[in-house]
Amino acid sequence: MDTPTSPGPAPGGPPRARAFTQDTAQVLALDKTTGTLRYLPAGEGNGETEAGVTWRSLIARGMLLCPMPGCGAPFGRVVAGGARRHHFAHRPGTADHDHGTGPETLWHLNAKDVLHRWAATCPQLAGWTLHLDDTRVLCQDDWRRPDVLAVSPDGARVAFEAQYSELTGTAWKARHDFYARAKVADIWLLAHHGPQWRPATPRQLRREELALHESAWVAAIQLSGLHQTMLRHGVTPLWLDPSTQMIGTATTRIRSRHTRARLEEDAAYTLPPGRAFPACHLAADPLEQCVVDLAAGQLLTPAGRVHHRDRERFEAGEKAALERAALLQARRDAEHKARTLRRRAAEQDKRRASAARAAEEQQAQQRREQEQRQRREQEEAQERAAAEARQKLPLVRQFPPVFEHETPAPARRPWWKPWRRRA
Ligand SMILES: [Zn+2]
Repeated sequence: MDTPTSPGPAPGGPPRARAFTQDTAQVLALDKTTGTLRYLPAGEGNGETEAGVTWRSLIARGMLLCPMPGCGAPFGRVVAGGARRHHFAHRPGTADHDHGTGPETLWHLNAKDVLHRWAATCPQLAGWTLHLDDTRVLCQDDWRRPDVLAVSPDGARVAFEAQYSELTGTAWKARHDFYARAKVADIWLLAHHGPQWRPATPRQLRREELALHESAWVAAIQLSGLHQTMLRHGVTPLWLDPSTQMIGTATTRIRSRHTRARLEEDAAYTLPPGRAFPACHLAADPLEQCVVDLAAGQLLTPAGRVHHRDRERFEAGEKAALERAALLQARRDAEHKARTLRRRAAEQDKRRASAARAAEEQQAQQRREQEQRQRREQEEAQERAAAEARQKLPLVRQFPPVFEHETPAPARRPWWKPWRRRA
């Protein structure tokens, strides 16, 4: 599979495997003479900071102070060796960092320094003036002091904010709007710790939108109200790990709804998370491979470039799918219309046939009725003829007696009278 998000660690860059592991190594020290921060590059603990001066010799002379607020004690040693990143440390028992600050203070300090050093080498910001934590942006009686502010010779400004504390979406929107009013591009980098860094739950990762992912994506993070607000305003959340100088881009690999059924490789796109997603994956890239997109006022990471490319591919694919669907629908509509016409014609034929049948039946009925009528008339005529014929007969024949008189039996002659035969 094509994995443009994972070009591999840059030469000399930190390996991706260590990114976002929340290493608390102290890699910054305050130079006692100049008052500036000095950065200990990875693997350089035994080396020289400048020609002839080793880090160890500076430590031995007490020239490197702890930059943590409330501490300021000189570092006692350089820890170089073993699997851990080389770093400065106090001698055991001389200082502790439980000033109630926690590791966020260290990381925030590191983050600002990392951004400052990176901005100084960023080709898009060549010739710009960089301000670390000391310049205000003013606009209409309001002001903000970004962590790093880059100002171009012609007055364009880019503000970098490393967000370590809790921030609501509404508060972020207010700050984003403030920078927009002041015509300053604002680039937000979220902490890899605390409220901005809540690992996604396995239940969230079972969601369909997050099921696909690439091996180079180092973590899965819950999207809070702040992140959702950023996404709503077209800003992809970015996380900064100052220890390994990696930038994590919120990313997801989603399958297009229209082409999902076809299960093509091409139908999956690497895009920023949707506004309603509860979580996202994190594609880690070295900070040195990121560029400032001055037109969009955003930090463009390699993963962000993949998003742009896939967004175009996605939109083209969706358009093609929609056209395909419209074509299919038109064909289906035409078929439906033809079917309806055929059905209507068949219904009309049926209606016509049944009407003809009904007419025939009616004719037959009429014929039958006529025959009955004729028969009845014939019968009546016959009866009438019979009655007339009867009237011509003598009355006694016309009215025959209802009862036939029987001749009464001859009265019997009493026994004492001799029978006398009638003559
Ligand atoms: Zn300290």
